[in-house]
Amino acid sequence: MDSYTNTFSNDEITVTYEPSICIHAEKCAKELSSVFRTSIIPWINLDDAETSAVINQIKKCPSGALQYFKNKQKKAG
Ligand code: SF4
Repeated sequence: MDSYTNTFSNDEITVTYEPSICIHAEKCAKELSSVFRTSIIPWINLDDAETSAVINQIKKCPSGALQYFKNKQKKAG
């Protein structure tokens, strides 16, 4: 486990943020500022946008620092 990974969840998805690979382009914060907030902790607020909008924004992250997975995709034993 990487101790620097930040994890944020809502009912549908879990978003992870890896600061060591973030290139701080602030693309996320500029384009979806209600969710990705650079000056407030916790900085990812999943309550203020549709999950689909959050996913779309994560896909635009140039560094791959933001990732997500759907909560229901649990591995069945
Ligand atoms: S879009 Fe990705 S690389 Fe840019 S600031 Fe956000 S997390 Fe970092």
